[in-house]
Amino acid sequence: MVLVVPRAWPIVAILLACNREPAPPPSSVGDDTAAKTDPAPTKPAPEAPPVRNDGTIFGSGTLMGTSVSINLWLDPEHTAAEAGAAMQAAFDEIARIESIASEWQQESEISRLNQRAGADPMPLGPELFELLWTSKDVSARTGGAFDVTFHAVGALWSFKPGAKPPSRAAVEALRPLIDWRAIELDETKRTARLARPGMKIGLGAIAKGYAVDRAAKVLHERGFRHHVVEGGGDTMVSGLKGGQKWSVGIQDPAKKAPVAVIPATDVSIVTSGDYERFIEYEGRRYAHIFDPRTGWPLESEKSPRSVTLLAPNATLADAYCTAVMVMGPERGMTFVEAAKDPDLEAVILPRTGDMLASSGLEGVLVRTPTP
Ligand code: ADP
Ligand code: MG
Repeated sequence: MVLVVPRAWPIVAILLACNREPAPPPSSVGDDTAAKTDPAPTKPAPEAPPVRNDGTIFGSGTLMGTSVSINLWLDPEHTAAEAGAAMQAAFDEIARIESIASEWQQESEISRLNQRAGADPMPLGPELFELLWTSKDVSARTGGAFDVTFHAVGALWSFKPGAKPPSRAAVEALRPLIDWRAIELDETKRTARLARPGMKIGLGAIAKGYAVDRAAKVLHERGFRHHVVEGGGDTMVSGLKGGQKWSVGIQDPAKKAPVAVIPATDVSIVTSGDYERFIEYEGRRYAHIFDPRTGWPLESEKSPRSVTLLAPNATLADAYCTAVMVMGPERGMTFVEAAKDPDLEAVILPRTGDMLASSGLEGVLVRTPTP
């Protein structure tokens, strides 16, 4: 649910369940003639991953500094080996998006754009252009509660244990650089320009959702319609599991146990909170979500413990989830109830008091009994 450490989002390992053991040697090497005309070693066919009793195949790994997983329901038209190959391709797509959109990788496209702040427009690939376009749109619709240009100030912070907040003067000096309107996008030329020198974009609140969407798209393109792609708590739920909706649990950050379950199909469910990535300094907690108006992290006392947001895709769910965190429980819920394009639903766990759920979840959300 959080990017634990602001570092280069390394690919540590992708473990498809099928890859745990070495592949067996190819069962047959064909006839002699074929062997003579093609001396290259025969590539073993990918091993089929195990199918669980409920008809699903599970794969997981570490990408974007967090755990990612795919749960796929194997339909009768496909083999387990085909599913395994599709899942690997989906993980590769997440890694590809990470290498474009991580502001912590020096060579990424977003880092190059950041380095050119104040200079000429830079031509962008379609993915980063789409991400920035969507980011600006969400900023406009949330009155700037979501603003990827927070990073000019955000980059002053470390959330490693023992780190200190930056000085007031340092924050004040950079605060004028937080302004999503100063991201200039040219749709015909597909270029971007950060209008002011020193501006910096950070995509931590949207790139993970986008990567999850792209991975789900890869699975769809290969003919798989039933799966849950998850990256650090951001899920995209597609189709069904053996004819039934998938069940997605909402965690209580304090109890580490689900407080509710949502039966879901063709929807993204994303959770944000201030409980995993924060530092404490002189009795105050500073978490990793910033109020773009002040340039400071949200005040824990006023912000929700967690927000779970439902939207048609994970890119939007990720971004709006962060925006609702910034808005706070009351204003956030009013915003969600009024949202029509896209249609949003939310479950908010306020600092004090009971869980809040938007009206569209009435009769859908199943609260788990508290012990
Ligand atoms: P999580 O990482 O827990 O899923 P979010 O999706 O809310 O949480 O993303 C938090 C990240 O978003 C921060 O680490 C930071 O990179 C970025 N961010 C923080 N505040 C804002 C903001 N107001 N608008 C856009 N991005 C933000
Ligand atoms: Mg987010």
